[in-house]
Amino acid sequence: MLIVHGTYAFSKKFTAFRNDFCANCRLPCRAVQVRTFDVHHIFWLPLIPLGIKKRWYCTRCQRQSDVYAGTRRPFKWIGLFLLLLFSVLFWFMPLEGEQDRGFVIFIWVAKFAAPLGAILTAWHLRRTRNQRARKDWLSHVPPADDANCPFCRTPLIVLSGNASCPSCGVLRL
Ligand SMILES: [Zn+2]
Ligand SMILES: [Zn+2]
Repeated sequence: MLIVHGTYAFSKKFTAFRNDFCANCRLPCRAVQVRTFDVHHIFWLPLIPLGIKKRWYCTRCQRQSDVYAGTRRPFKWIGLFLLLLFSVLFWFMPLEGEQDRGFVIFIWVAKFAAPLGAILTAWHLRRTRNQRARKDWLSHVPPADDANCPFCRTPLIVLSGNASCPSCGVLRL
């Protein structure tokens, strides 16, 4: 049975902003923190409250600046290992006397597809080997120094080193 489910985000509010390094754009960016009250829905009925969530969004690509949408490097290494393992297995798989022609064709395709996939994965890992982690880049991003709130233009008030907007309550982080 197909179950339609997902998450509703209620009472969306901007709570902070900062200079960030976007994991998706791979560029320094302005990020805004959005606070929502999330409720999981099943067949559009909000049934399971998930609580208050805070997420950082890149203002350039609108995606979460601290969450990389692609495959992470450790998983690519695991993929490379599995492809190499399957390459060996397919080449040593005995096919004499195999009656199922479809299966024999599949194995012959896999004999070439698995090593090809392994080569492409290894090439990709080598090409991206010097890609610095988001954390390293972040240390080179200067902190936000805005004097006015980017949402409502009210001058920010600095109290014990923390700047915040007296009008909408947004924090400069
Ligand atoms: Zn981005
Ligand atoms: Zn404001």
